[in-house]
Parts: sequence; structure tokens; C-alpha cells
Amino acid sequence: MSKSRAPETVDLQAMMQGLWERVRSYNAQADEDKLWFGFRFAKAAHEGQLRKSGEPFFTHALTVATILADLRLDADTLIAAMVHDVVEDTSYELEDVRQRFGKDVAHMVDGVTKISSIRMVNKDARKAETYRKLVLAIAQDPRTVLIKLADRLHNMRTLTYLAADRQQDIAQETMDVYIPLANRFGIAKIKWELEDLAFKILQPERYFEIEAGINQTRAERERLIDKIVLPLRSSLDEAGLVSRVTGRPKHFYSIYRKMKDQEIGLDRVYDLLAVRIIVETKADCYHALGILHSHFPPLADRIKDYIATPKPNLYQSIHSTVRVPGGKFIEVQIRTEEMHERSELGIAAHWRYKEGGGADKADLAEMVKWLRQIMEWEEDVDDAREFMETLKVDFFSDEVFVFSPGGDVFQLPRGATPLDFAFTIHSEVGFRCIGAKVNGRIVTLRSELQNGDTVEILTSKTPSPSASWLEVVKTSRAKHHIRRWIKTTQFEESAKLGREILERELKRAHLHTKVDDLVDVAQQMGFTDLDKLFAAVGHGEVTHMKVIGRVTPVPESPAEKVIAKGKELYDNLLRRSTTGVRVAGVDNLMVSFARCCQPIPGDSIVGVITRGRGVSVHRAGCTNLNDPNLGPERVIDVTWDSSSDQTFMVKLIITAQDRTNLLMDISNVISLTNTNISSGEFSAEDDLARVTLVLAVRNLNHLEKILKAARKVRGVQGIDRYQLGGPVSDGGG
Ligand code: MN
Repeated sequence: MSKSRAPETVDLQAMMQGLWERVRSYNAQADEDKLWFGFRFAKAAHEGQLRKSGEPFFTHALTVATILADLRLDADTLIAAMVHDVVEDTSYELEDVRQRFGKDVAHMVDGVTKISSIRMVNKDARKAETYRKLVLAIAQDPRTVLIKLADRLHNMRTLTYLAADRQQDIAQETMDVYIPLANRFGIAKIKWELEDLAFKILQPERYFEIEAGINQTRAERERLIDKIVLPLRSSLDEAGLVSRVTGRPKHFYSIYRKMKDQEIGLDRVYDLLAVRIIVETKADCYHALGILHSHFPPLADRIKDYIATPKPNLYQSIHSTVRVPGGKFIEVQIRTEEMHERSELGIAAHWRYKEGGGADKADLAEMVKWLRQIMEWEEDVDDAREFMETLKVDFFSDEVFVFSPGGDVFQLPRGATPLDFAFTIHSEVGFRCIGAKVNGRIVTLRSELQNGDTVEILTSKTPSPSASWLEVVKTSRAKHHIRRWIKTTQFEESAKLGREILERELKRAHLHTKVDDLVDVAQQMGFTDLDKLFAAVGHGEVTHMKVIGRVTPVPESPAEKVIAKGKELYDNLLRRSTTGVRVAGVDNLMVSFARCCQPIPGDSIVGVITRGRGVSVHRAGCTNLNDPNLGPERVIDVTWDSSSDQTFMVKLIITAQDRTNLLMDISNVISLTNTNISSGEFSAEDDLARVTLVLAVRNLNHLEKILKAARKVRGVQGIDRYQLGGPVSDGGG
């Protein structure tokens, strides 16, 4: 446990000498010059900077490197550790690091710098998993995570120099993000120390209670250790096994966990001791287990063989809880030296120097595979959903992590856009999304989000999704919501239209049946409910004739007939269609006028059921009605509402012998018919003039008056009403 110590002059040179000797002890071929160059460079870069403790700033980076040397890591990792704060805290750039130490070191430094910029502001434990993934995604190289863990460890050891609330925040983040990572990476050595340091800050009372309890029983415990360890040692020796037997108190945090899990006091935690037997081979482990049990009887259900079945992070050991003198129970762990090393060093073991020098880079692919397995098998995942999420994680991930303005972190697939983010927050936010700010700047909804972006969604009061959004979004969640919205909107509109068409047709066929009574018909036709039948009719998939044909006529009494007729007349009186068109007695339809033929009241017209856009009204002679794709079932009768006093735009094309004042004469006679000319165009070729006029007319009578007057103008040869794809003859001109 760290003690606040008075600032003192730290002999950096001596620390480095110690570090180098440590490195040389596990790798004789280590690049001495490069390591010392890293030391001199980082020391000079941080020259004059002090930590909160008063020590030279570089003490920190050098200690981080020393922690990693204890994990026996390669020179590049140690150099990266020494220079890890240079880019963030000095005037040197990443490029300076790359030029001096190569791209591997630069890459690690870049990762550590980026991870340090993440602040876990959200205290929601459910988000912790996303933060852990974010760290991994940014790290890219597993060694970067190791540096970050060592960095955190040293910062936790020296946390007392910070303000109390900062201590709490950092300790909580350590508990939520870094300890689980240390566990996943199988580095027990770092995990335990981080746990006890964080525990001390987060729950000081419990921590000191346990510390006091352990200290009180120290003498008793030491006697007990002697009673267990000594006989075991001699028996193992007698059996010819080369072994190490150790006994020490468990880590405080693991004692606390035990007390909490079993809801017991410290006095009842019987296995405060961790006794470990380390032997040479796997076979020796089982031999040692037999010797252990011959001295101390095991609790039958407390033998765990993690050698035969390793833990997900590849931890191997045999655990057996045995009864020891005094009626107590303790857990004994048996493992080989190699297993022990792996449990202490975890993933770091893969970067150890091997005989002959050089880091074990050939194993990188194997390593990545192993990492993925750690992710996939992670056992502290609570529910299945989260487990599935974990499965998807790839260390060199195809995902981006972005923040809400409140600091919540969100995980999205690479290529995701602000729209994906909006739908991830909530489908309502997605539907109402009209724009986005990324890092405070307005961006298009199509822009691709990057790791660490802060995204703010701008919304409107009303939802306004569009089908084109489907091309913009990457997440299946957003796609699903948009598709469903389109489908629902179309369905509702089609159902409304189909209902009104059937209402009308039932009346026209003088059937006494109401639309709501068509449930049986709907079922006969294979629809599970009425709305689906209506939607099919409104969408033009089922003809109204087919539906009406299945309706059994209900006989109507003569009195009913009279009442019905009277009601219809009365209804028609009340109905004033705003469009000027009634679809044969049925109102509230979505009616629009076809632009191709511009019908006006008095024209004989037909309605065409469009897909999802209501009824489009065409002139009966419109050439578009000849479209072979337009089945008769989509054509319905419509009539003009004579009471309407609306005006309609009509485009006329007048051909005439060109002469002076032709245009003036035409506009004069038209004005006399009380008509507004909304626009006009004039062109002439040789002596043939072509005048195009857009007029506001009330109805066919009005138009005929205009045509009559215009034909009388000298030189006029013909007048055609405009029709897309060619003029439609109106009998005149
Ligand atoms: Mn640092």
C-alpha cells in the first residue's frame, strides 16, 4: 500500500540502471542502446516538470516501464512506456517519437494518449462494458493496454496527492474499466493490486476493518501457516517432488468479496489464507494433491480442477479446500511454475523475450485468436444479451465509439452516421431527426462518425423520416425502424382509402351492408382483419368488385330504402369536398389532380387509385390511362362537386398566323371572359406563331367561352389543351 512520502530527490539514473538490469536478467540480447536512448529522450522531454507529489514527472513513466519489466515485456513496450506521456505533456509530436523509435512504439504511444483522453463520465455500470470495449478498440495493440494498465497502477499508487473527489472518480473508473480488463488479460499481479487500491478509496471503512482484523490475527495465522506449510514441505520432499510451498493472507478485496457474497463477518471468513504449492509438472500437481489430502481432509465439493478445464482467460490450477488444525478450512492452490507465471502475467507472458532474443511476434495471429476467445468466453457477463454483444467484439474492431453531449458512450458499426446514432438513442429521436452536430459543428446526416466524436442530434416536433434514409443508415436497428415507419404510414393511408372505396361501392350496389360488417368477407378472402382488407383494396391489390361480389345482399324494406335515399341526399348536401371532387358520394379522400391532363369541372373524369397517394383524377381521355400496367381494378368513378367555386389551372396552346398585335388581341378577348392569365409564352417560326397560356378557369363552361372567344381572333388556326405526351382533342380547335 502506498504511503505518502515526502518529496525527495529521485535518482532517475539509478532507477534506469535497475530497470536495465531487470531486462538483462530475462533477455541477454536486449537492445541496450535503444532502451537508454529512450530513457534519455523522455527524461529530457519532461525536464523541469513535477508531479503532484513533488517528484520529477518522469519518475511516473519510468515506474510504468519498471512495472512492465516485471511482466518481462519486450524493449519496444518498455520504451513506449517511458515516452508514453511525451506527446500529451511536452512539445514533442507523435512524429518525433516515430522517427526516433519506429512505428510500433509510436503506435503504442498514440493509443495510450487517446485512451487517456477518454473520461468515463457515465457512472452507469451497464455502460462500463462499452468503455472497456472502447479502450480495446482504441488500443489496437494489446501491449498498449498493458502500458495503460501499468500507467493506471502507478497513478493509483500515488492517488493520495489528488483531491478527494478526483480520487473517487479515478478509483471507480479503475474498478469498472481497468480491473475487468486486467482480469480478461489474465494479469493477476496487476488486478489484485488495483483492486486493493481502489477498494481502499471507495470503501475506506471496510478496508481498514479488514486490515485491522488481519493484523490482530497475525501471530495466530503465522502459527497456522507453520502447522500447514512445514508438514507439507517435508512430505513433498520425501515424495521426491521439487516444490515451493507458500502461505500468505488473501488480498483484502477478495476477503471483502467473500464476506459480502456469503454475508458473513470477518471472524467467519475461514480461509483468509492462501496456501500455494508450486511443482514442476502437471503430473506432480495431482501427486501433490494426494499428499495434501493425506495430511488434511478435503471438503468433497470444494475441489476444482482448472488444469483439466482451464478458465476462459487460460488460468490453470487445482483448488482444494481442506480442513486444518483448529477446525478451520483453507483453500490450497496447486500448479506448475509455468501455470503460475501465466496466472501472474497473463497476456504479458506472450510478449516475453524468448531464448535467442526478440519478442514473440510470430505468434501474433495466435495471440489475436486467443484474445478473441477471452472476449467470447468472458464469464463475468451477466445476461445473454450482453454476452452476444461481447461475442461481436473484435480486438481490431470494425466499430466506432461515440459520445452523447452528456458523455454517454455509444457503440456503432464503422461507417455509422448521425442518423444511426439518433436511432440508437431512441426511435423517436431518430424519427424527429432533422440535423446533427459533431464536435459542435453542423454536419450532414450522411457524414461518417469517427471514434471519440461527440454527437448532438437536432430534432423537430413532428417526425419526418424518408425512404432515402435507408441508404444513409448502417445499423439494422435504424433500418428496421425506418422500414416499419414507411410500411405503417402506407398501410394506414391505403386502409383509409380502401375503406371509403368499399363504403361507396356498397352504396352504389344498393347493398345494405356496412363496411364494418365485412369481417366475414375479409376472412373468406384470407385477411386476418378488416384493415388489412381495406389496405389491400386501397393499395390496388384486391378489386372492390371482388369484395362486393362476396357480399350477400341484405333485403331492404321499402321504408328503409326511402330513408336510405333521403339520408344519401342529405349527406351529399352536407359534403363539400375541398378539392372540388367527390368520389361518387364518398368524401375525405386524398384527391389530387393529374398534372398530365389538368382536368377541370365539367370534364369527364376518372379516378386512379395510386399506391399510397390516394386518388389521382384524370380526364377520361388522358393518354396515361392507356398504360398497360393500370388494371381496371384501380380505376374508379369520380364526379365533380358542382358547388365548388374553385379555379383550376389550364394550359392552352394556340397556333396562329403570325402578325402584329396577335398576342395583344388574344389576351384582350380572354380578359373579356373574366379570366385571369397566370402566365404566357410566345414563339414564332416562319410565319406560324405558337402561344402558350396558363389560365385560371372555373369549369368546362367557362373554358368553352374562352375557347370560343379566342377562336374568333384573326389568324388563330387551332387551340389545344395541354396534355403530357401530346394534346388531347376537346372537340374544339
Ligand atoms: Mn501516464
